[in-house]
Amino acid sequence: MDLTYFKKNSKNKRKENNLFFKLLKKIPPKVLDKIIHPIHDNVFKKTNCLECANCCKTTSPIFSDKDIIRIAKHLNLRPSEFTEKYLKIDDEQDYVLNSLPCSFLAKDNYCSIYNVRPKACKEFPHTSRKKQYQLLNLTKKNLEVCPAAYNIIEEVKNSLDKNLR
Ligand code: SF4
Ligand code: SF4
Repeated sequence: MDLTYFKKNSKNKRKENNLFFKLLKKIPPKVLDKIIHPIHDNVFKKTNCLECANCCKTTSPIFSDKDIIRIAKHLNLRPSEFTEKYLKIDDEQDYVLNSLPCSFLAKDNYCSIYNVRPKACKEFPHTSRKKQYQLLNLTKKNLEVCPAAYNIIEEVKNSLDKNLR
């Protein structure tokens, strides 16, 4: 996966995408989910995250209390030891990674805590979640982080174009 090309391309499309997301916000919520979810499935069938790991390298998931308890147990640490070692509190008062790339990202792009990873990592880039209309601002942000999210929105554009023709 050519991340340099992806980053340049996604930045170049910022203006176009700002306009497109204004249009997406006008689509009824249930219809929007029906458009995005099958495209999410298709794109992820063709995406090898192990060739990318850009999310783990450049952004932090939010760690919920449940995540912290589960991961700390896995690492034989007390939750307070885990948060002190790996996390910080961000401006929104959420626990996030204290350094990037993520400390649990191995050299081969595998996640060393994959089975107990945060819920936010499992769900990233969140395009298979219900109520996509509530997540549009996040998805727009993720277009410059995640090649799969970028491709999903490009396919959404194509599918809407076809339906309008
Ligand atoms: S916990 Fe695992 S999946 Fe989540 S950011 Fe770190 S390496 Fe990536
Ligand atoms: S979820 Fe997106 S950013 Fe993360 S590894 Fe997969 S394609 Fe890359």
